[in-house]
Amino acid sequence: LCMAEKFEIVLSPEELRSRLPEWPRFVIDLSLWGEHTQKEKGKVCLQVIQSYGLLKERFTGRELVVAPANEEFKRLFYGPLDRITAYEGSTAEFLKENGIDEVVLLDPWADEVLGEDDLRAKAFVIGGIVDTSGKKRGATPKIGEELERGGIKVRRRKIVLKGDVIGVPDRINRIVGIILAMMVEGKSMDEAVYGFQ
Ligand code: SAM
Repeated sequence: LCMAEKFEIVLSPEELRSRLPEWPRFVIDLSLWGEHTQKEKGKVCLQVIQSYGLLKERFTGRELVVAPANEEFKRLFYGPLDRITAYEGSTAEFLKENGIDEVVLLDPWADEVLGEDDLRAKAFVIGGIVDTSGKKRGATPKIGEELERGGIKVRRRKIVLKGDVIGVPDRINRIVGIILAMMVEGKSMDEAVYGFQ
């Protein structure tokens, strides 16, 4: 018997899960929630739900963190609020509470491209930003600055297609999907991006 088969026979899913290394957290940072129109807020909620769907397939869904999740978000969010982690404080507060002092921030403005090593991070932070007007151009680095002010070490990383951010979908759930395809399926960045275009 290979190890996986043996585990399947001997252990329940809960027991198996408890023996595996901790799943990484995917934090959707909502600190710029107030800069969105009502329509954009609805789109943020939809993309969070779609991110939950992708994570639930691979992990449990619980590793999806939304912070800070205010009352309006909770009201507009029609997904399973009790099955994700809706944290009321800031992303930095959440991370510190969970003993995480370093994150990979997905940032289209970063100098460095997301690499193999980055995929082993304990937490990935994605901007909970929908930008239909173009007014939030350059908003993601602000999230990084805020995290650093909160005492978190930030590795800013971009996702590129053939070396360029142009052509990479910027929806929150697609960014989650691309990371998962690289992390879980071992796809190259270009393959992963093509899969989510
Ligand atoms: N207008 C925002 C800006 O200029 O920073 C873009 C927000 S984008 C709609 C939503 C989030 O997806 C970003 O905050 C970032 O975390 C992630 N994202 C989008 N494209 C990315 C890329 N090419 N590389 C890394 N992260 C990306």
